Amino acid sequence: MLKVNNLSVHYGVIEAVKDVSFEVNEGEIVSLIGANGAGKTTILQTLSGLNKPSKGEISFKGKNIHGIPPKKIVNNGISHVPEGRHVFSDMTVKENLEMGAFLRKDREEVKKDTARVFDRFPVLKERIGQDAATLSGGEQQMLAMGRALVSQPELLLLDEPSMGLAPLFIREIFSIIEDINKKGTTILLVEQNAKVALEISNRGYVLETGNIVISGTGKSLLESDEVQKAYLGG
Ligand code: ATP
Repeated sequence: MLKVNNLSVHYGVIEAVKDVSFEVNEGEIVSLIGANGAGKTTILQTLSGLNKPSKGEISFKGKNIHGIPPKKIVNNGISHVPEGRHVFSDMTVKENLEMGAFLRKDREEVKKDTARVFDRFPVLKERIGQDAATLSGGEQQMLAMGRALVSQPELLLLDEPSMGLAPLFIREIFSIIEDINKKGTTILLVEQNAKVALEISNRGYVLETGNIVISGTGKSLLESDEVQKAYLGG
């Protein structure tokens, strides 16, 4: 579904992503794990058109999406839930969800998809008229995910969904991610919390200073000595 070949991304002279290749097949949950500064966020931002690659190819469903604007990438079926959520804080829950459906013309279907988001996250329905700034961190994460889901993505990019959440909430968000996947959305997940990410992933890639150093199934990575030592405190 998504194929990334020899991707490099620079910030000025800094090469944040170095010749990275990976793929995500339809129906999978794939994780990119790695320490601070490994290049995970940069990769997601490049996939959604927010960063320009200096080298390499990105294709989605056989179509080249390298260098096309973010809006077109959303139209092609990729939605991005950024690190730190970035909900529109002085807009209500309802308005935030409307922003997610901004590019869609099929208003009746949008209504149905918004109702589905409320079924999945009942707390958002309870808070429908409340400003996003007044939501808890976990509720903001749900809103950011809900906003991405109303754009009807085929591929959902999630950047650090566990960040700043209490352990109980992390479990809940991850079980929701699994459920979204089971209902048909392919997921590319970026996480520092390697354990929870790999537990729900079909496959994963470990990034170190811009390079992919290990890849494998979620299970094989969880059991790998190298991954355990570096990322799982084992
Ligand atoms: P974290 O988990 O801490 O967010 P990450 O793996 O997502 O880390 P990136 O945020 O992609 O890593 O950063 C990769 C490298 O690029 C880092 O060395 C970072 O300092 C650098 N970098 C990121 N954004 C910029 C920017 N806007 N300008 C210059 N350098 C940047």
